[in-house]
Amino acid sequence: KDITLAIVKPDAFLAAHVDDIRQEILHAGLQIKAEGEFVLDKASAELFYREHKNRNFFPHLVSFMSSGPVYVMLLSGRDAIKKWRLMIGPTDPEKARKDSPLSIRARFGTDNTRNAVHGSDSHESVLREMGFFFGNYTEE
Ligand code: ATP
Repeated sequence: KDITLAIVKPDAFLAAHVDDIRQEILHAGLQIKAEGEFVLDKASAELFYREHKNRNFFPHLVSFMSSGPVYVMLLSGRDAIKKWRLMIGPTDPEKARKDSPLSIRARFGTDNTRNAVHGSDSHESVLREMGFFFGNYTEE
């Protein structure tokens, strides 16, 4: 149960931060169980973020997430979900720079949309997101 999904989003991928972020994950004592580069088309990005489909930022989020490659990692380790979310910091990089200046979003994020990384927020999300990228997608 101690697994989570990390995504290096297109902004951080383009800025060549994948290796830095990978190293940080390993140094934090998490293991990488599966990983790969993916390109989301618009329909896949919409599906991935469907819980936000009624939000005003949804079209922007979808076009950003399908604007270039992402790097997806399945992480494993004690309290992986919490640990990874602590490492990435608040959604908004501006807030992250104030409250959590060493976090990944503080260092590599730009704004609410271009915020460098994703981390699953619950075990249910992990299962859904993991299936999305690595198979065993059983829901719906
Ligand atoms: P993630 O799910 O990517 O780890 P999060 O859990 O911190 O991020 P959510 O509230 O689940 O944040 O939002 C998902 C994603 O939607 C955010 O990472 C961000 O890219 C985008 N987003 C959230 N709020 C806004 C906003 N107000 N304006 C623009 N984009 C937003």
